[in-house]
Amino acid sequence: ADPQKYTGIVEGCCCDYETVDGLNEDVLNPLLQQLVTTPFFRYFKIKLWCDCPFWPDDGMCRLRDCSVCECPENEFPESFKKPFSHGLSYDNLVCQEGKPQAAVDRTLDGKAFRGWIETDNPWTNDDETDNGKPEVLAGVSVVNKILESEMTYVNLQLNPERFTGYVGPSARRIWDAIYTENCPKYPSGEFCQEKMVLYKLISGLHSSISIHIAADYLLDESTNMWGQNVEMMYDRVLRYPDRVKNLYFTFLFVLRAATKAANYLEQAEYNTGNPTEDLKTQSLMKQLLYNPKLQAACPLPFDEAKLWQGQSGPELKQQIQKQFKNISALMDCVGCEKCRLWGKLQVLGLGTALKILFSVDGQNHLDQPVSLLHKA
Ligand code: FAD
Repeated sequence: ADPQKYTGIVEGCCCDYETVDGLNEDVLNPLLQQLVTTPFFRYFKIKLWCDCPFWPDDGMCRLRDCSVCECPENEFPESFKKPFSHGLSYDNLVCQEGKPQAAVDRTLDGKAFRGWIETDNPWTNDDETDNGKPEVLAGVSVVNKILESEMTYVNLQLNPERFTGYVGPSARRIWDAIYTENCPKYPSGEFCQEKMVLYKLISGLHSSISIHIAADYLLDESTNMWGQNVEMMYDRVLRYPDRVKNLYFTFLFVLRAATKAANYLEQAEYNTGNPTEDLKTQSLMKQLLYNPKLQAACPLPFDEAKLWQGQSGPELKQQIQKQFKNISALMDCVGCEKCRLWGKLQVLGLGTALKILFSVDGQNHLDQPVSLLHKA
């Protein structure tokens, strides 16, 4: 973004744009670039294949290992039969998984993985009822017992978030369902900070996804040349100041959650079975969480204490939690495997931040190793 255009305090936060840019450049980005290569952070355990709870298959193949050649051939026009030879304009009609850039690379040493799984988060999961039946949300059951065999182990370093060719009605339907049903941008007359937070978080996430697509784009399919698509970055994000501002907002919100949970994250076990690497992870985490430059320049990136003060606080929280759960569930409707991987990972991250900032009892102060995430 053009830093000249964005001055002053990031709306809804407590630090200004220039400070965030400086901190990101000097401190945060260098540390994060190292952290994402450590085994603890590069391996991700995920249930990638769940049924979309909101609508039936919308023309995308969503089955496990779906590729063009595995779908019944007689259903496809002749020109669609060769998985990789079709032009991008047909992409909405064929399996996204048939395209190499859309499929998840599962190359992984399974033994190296000792990840954590998410547990007990009212922003993303419903508790099972006493009789073991899952709770029903928006008419559909959203919790099922997850079997170990259904989990996929992913090395995120082999699966960068980038252009996948996932465009058209399927992708549009997800974003439409998110914005129109689950986090509308409230007209300027209505001012409800808590609802605005949800909208800004999702819009910021959307900006981030678009920027990753434009930053790592398939420029020439015939030569497999990847690179930046500056025009796309401008068209989708930079020319809309709100989208840029929401990106900063989401960044600061997540940063606040991480620093608020610093004691917890410092004590957490980063055990992947590789002591040298795990010590490095712990040390990098400390450098990030207790960074003197960060503490001096932006000690409170977001002030969660200002929210939920009104009389309708509890009901409002329930309503927004339900909307966020619906957004989480919508990730299972994403018709491109790699997009689903990153969508689920990032929504899980936002859900964890929401839990830290809005649902963990202030008395606990997160200095006990309470269950934010749980070791698998
Ligand atoms: P979209 O990005 O689909 O946007 C739809 C509409 O939303 C826009 O017309 C605009 O009105 C509004 N909008 C756009 N940006 C914002 C914003 N920041 N804030 C508020 N409103 C906004 N594609 C890939 O190539 N790689 C991926 O990894 C990938 N991951 C995805 C993950 C998810 C969860 C989803 C739903 C889609 C993903 N996609 C991915 C598809 C990608 O996001 C776009 O949908 C696709 O590239 C088509 O873009 P578009 O220009 O039609 O607009």
